[in-house]
Amino acid sequence: MIIAANFKTNHTRAATKAYLAKVTAYIAEAEISDEVMVFPPATALCRSEGDVTVGAQNAWPTDNGAYTGEIGTEQLDEFGIHTILIGHSERRHILGESQEVVAEKFAYFKALGFRIVYCIGEPLEVRDAGSETLMAYLAEQLEGIDLGYGNLVIAYEPVWAIGTGRVPSENEIELIHGALAKLTKAPLLYGGSVKVGNVAPILALKHVDGALVGSGALDPDDFCKMIATA
Ligand code: 13P
Repeated sequence: MIIAANFKTNHTRAATKAYLAKVTAYIAEAEISDEVMVFPPATALCRSEGDVTVGAQNAWPTDNGAYTGEIGTEQLDEFGIHTILIGHSERRHILGESQEVVAEKFAYFKALGFRIVYCIGEPLEVRDAGSETLMAYLAEQLEGIDLGYGNLVIAYEPVWAIGTGRVPSENEIELIHGALAKLTKAPLLYGGSVKVGNVAPILALKHVDGALVGSGALDPDDFCKMIATA
């Protein structure tokens, strides 16, 4: 199982440090063997600690250069960061990243051997249009992505479930993860309103290999509870 916390635009450097201290201590004490990842904001990036892998929420596909507001691998290397989220729905839908840009990032970080947590997910109107439309939409989000890449993790995060408290039915998750499992051997995470209260049945579903959690993981005690469930 892979349990990952995406802080998005939350937590300071000090809060992230305290969070990691709590989670690494818990993992050591409880002898957890699942893979645990934390994605802090760029200003709180730091080295991986204990058994917690620290990853970047985003970076531009460059070493360095003139990309105002972005960071590249020169900044990631400072903390030995080798794990990255690519294609998150907020980057696609709020920050306007096209599939072309997402695929360019994928190719760049794949060439460097990064562990890539690649996110896909459909908006509500696509889900409501039926499973054929939904699968076609997800296929578009996989365009230009090497699904055979050995260091790939896929996160299925329906846009309408992110931060809304709404979660697809267990059947829906199994259907989509089952279809994805036919396309790739990569571990498949579910994301979207995962909380302490619903994580266990989600992780028990077929073809669900872990969870990518936003708001529900902002409190380190809650995150530890989710890790315990895995
Ligand atoms: P929430 O858990 O807040 O719905 O966010 C999910 C997510 O986007 C994780 O990347």
